[in-house]
Amino acid sequence: MSLFSTRSITCEKCGNVYTMDEVGSINADRRPDLRQAILDDNFQDAVCPECGHSFRLEPLFTYLDVGRGQWLACYPARQMETYHNEEVAAQEMFDKSYGVDAPKAAQAIGGMLTPRITFGWPAAREKLLLHELGLDDVIVEMTKLDLMRRLRPVSSFVSSATTMTACTSNGSAPKARRCCPAYPSARSCTT
Ligand SMILES: [Zn+2]
Repeated sequence: MSLFSTRSITCEKCGNVYTMDEVGSINADRRPDLRQAILDDNFQDAVCPECGHSFRLEPLFTYLDVGRGQWLACYPARQMETYHNEEVAAQEMFDKSYGVDAPKAAQAIGGMLTPRITFGWPAAREKLLLHELGLDDVIVEMTKLDLMRRLRPVSSFVSSATTMTACTSNGSAPKARRCCPAYPSARSCTT
């Protein structure tokens, strides 16, 4: 089942205090609307009833979707810095719920699940989207890492852009690939 607890919110704009349901766990098989809210990118949005100021609670919950074989431990983006600790905690949670430390019946369900850990709303949403699109998230993550390795640091990119300006200001033809290898087809490289 999906679990929520009541949380008091103090509006940072007007100081009004109100409450909202903060998610602790999601069972997407029983609550497909919560899965859809994550996909719609508005899950756990809070709106102050007094002044209308809105913000979003950080993700901190587990997500179960047996039908799609997904189990996620979703953490706030700021906890990425300590991801080693979160990985251990997530693995322990999974083991107790559906893994080696769980009852046999739960282990049978666990055998159908792929456990993952995410940091921040975009990462959690991405896991649902990738499954929706039939993409292998491991291949996607490896592709990201490969791209990050190939990209120059931002300072190098700025330096390249400066070089680009210099080579166009004197009338010479822009050499986009040499100036900006990371984005060979980017419009900023050719104008
Ligand atoms: Zn307010």
